[in-house]
Amino acid sequence: MSRPIEAHINLGALQHNLAQTKALVGHSRIWAVIKANGYGHGLLRVAGALNRADGFAVASVDEALQLRQAGFLHPILLLEGLFDASELSLVLQHRLDLVVHSHHQVDWLLAQTIKEPLHLWLKLDTGMHRLGFNEEGLHQALFRLKHHAPRFKCHLMSHLACAEDDTPFNQYQYQQLLAANTNYQYKLSLANSAAIQTAPQTHLNWVRPGIMLYGAGILASQKERFKPVMTLTSRVIALKWIEAGEGVGYGQTWQASQTTCLAIVAVGYGDGYPRHATNGTPVLISGMRFSLVGRVSMDMITVDVTANAQQIKLNDPVELWGPNLSVDEVAEHANTIGYELLCGITQRVKIKEL
Ligand code: PLP
Repeated sequence: MSRPIEAHINLGALQHNLAQTKALVGHSRIWAVIKANGYGHGLLRVAGALNRADGFAVASVDEALQLRQAGFLHPILLLEGLFDASELSLVLQHRLDLVVHSHHQVDWLLAQTIKEPLHLWLKLDTGMHRLGFNEEGLHQALFRLKHHAPRFKCHLMSHLACAEDDTPFNQYQYQQLLAANTNYQYKLSLANSAAIQTAPQTHLNWVRPGIMLYGAGILASQKERFKPVMTLTSRVIALKWIEAGEGVGYGQTWQASQTTCLAIVAVGYGDGYPRHATNGTPVLISGMRFSLVGRVSMDMITVDVTANAQQIKLNDPVELWGPNLSVDEVAEHANTIGYELLCGITQRVKIKEL
């Protein structure tokens, strides 16, 4: 038998989460964000399950081409636009929508002979200070591009920096985007998953949900509506008792305060389980909740099962995250976010579709 670590991808849950997202956003159209290999769930698998989205948003031409080669005809948005002028021929050939965030990208666009209309999403930096034009730069870029209408179909977008938090900054960013559109009537896109859940005014013409489609990053008020898509499972591969005062694992970072039963589980950072998961990170064994103790190794973790030692056996099923233990909760114990854990599943983890 091979190592028992598996990621189960529930395609029905993806479809369900898209339907729930549609119900939340009403008439706004949906770019399903499936970059980074569909947040670690598999690009084509996720696209297939989400084929009722209005379009897909990805990070690179490579990802877009995989979708086109697999036969997806949806609009596809390149969230970072062109990295190089040489990509433009592929963009035109495969009818990709582009985010345009810098003047050098406008230069590349204007240097080409473009016959078919190309959809451009000009990105306004409303405060994230990552990608995007300032307001003056945006107007300049629009002015230059407008001279070449109707080849370029322009739209406006921005990205929220603190959408998870209840802060006036969200409203400020939203107002900045609306203000930039005062003299135009471009289609607008702003909301990511957190804003979709908390700030209906930000839905505008197109929303860009990512993490919520995978059933993570869900606010307490919406928990019942969304289902986790990935379940990471493994098995108990050894059990042992240690005495009070004995240490566990590399660096002996955890010492038993009493006679302790340890379950050794086949999962480690080599599979994408977070190395920085701290003592106390929850682990479900046969449906019972226990705590990780000691350092996460490349291939194994150690779990204190003393409280129910009599009920734990070799080969018992383990849920590292999934419907009974949220990836966000595990991530918090590792001082990170669910996104990173989902994206970080490594190639040696067997994927099973449900
Ligand atoms: N829009 C942009 C520009 C993004 O970079 C991302 C994700 O990083 C998203 C939308 C989706 O965000 P979320 O996964 O929080 O919904």
